[in-house]
Amino acid sequence: MERHTRQRQAIYEAIATSSRPLLPQEILDAAITAVPRMSIATVYRTIKALLDERRICSVFLPAQNPRYELAKPGHHHHFQCRHCDRVFDIEGCPGNLLALAPRGFVLEDHELILYGCCSDCALRQTTVSSRARLRRSAPKVG
Ligand SMILES: [Zn+2]
Ligand SMILES: [Zn+2]
Repeated sequence: MERHTRQRQAIYEAIATSSRPLLPQEILDAAITAVPRMSIATVYRTIKALLDERRICSVFLPAQNPRYELAKPGHHHHFQCRHCDRVFDIEGCPGNLLALAPRGFVLEDHELILYGCCSDCALRQTTVSSRARLRRSAPKVG
């Protein structure tokens, strides 16, 4: 396979096999295992081409660089972990939010982002705090 095609395939696969939207650097980290010596410029160029073909779409969070995920039908929202900054898809939508709009306003769209702690980070924190408890309860030496 031609190098250009292999690079493009690896970048698409990185996005397609991820369970969450990825930053260009994360796409590079995943794709470079398949095609060594890939550059971030190649990642940006390929992202642009895949966006033009509507095979992927951008995920914009306020004041952050865009992330990318496979274009999928229907509408969904995202959860950002405040500890590792990763963004995850969430299924479903609270639905009709018209009741929140001021009287007489016409609601056309909405954005919803949940913030918190992902399961990996929650687990890590539990481990760290139980270790800290163990250290505190250990008898003093000397
Ligand atoms: Zn996390
Ligand atoms: Zn929604």
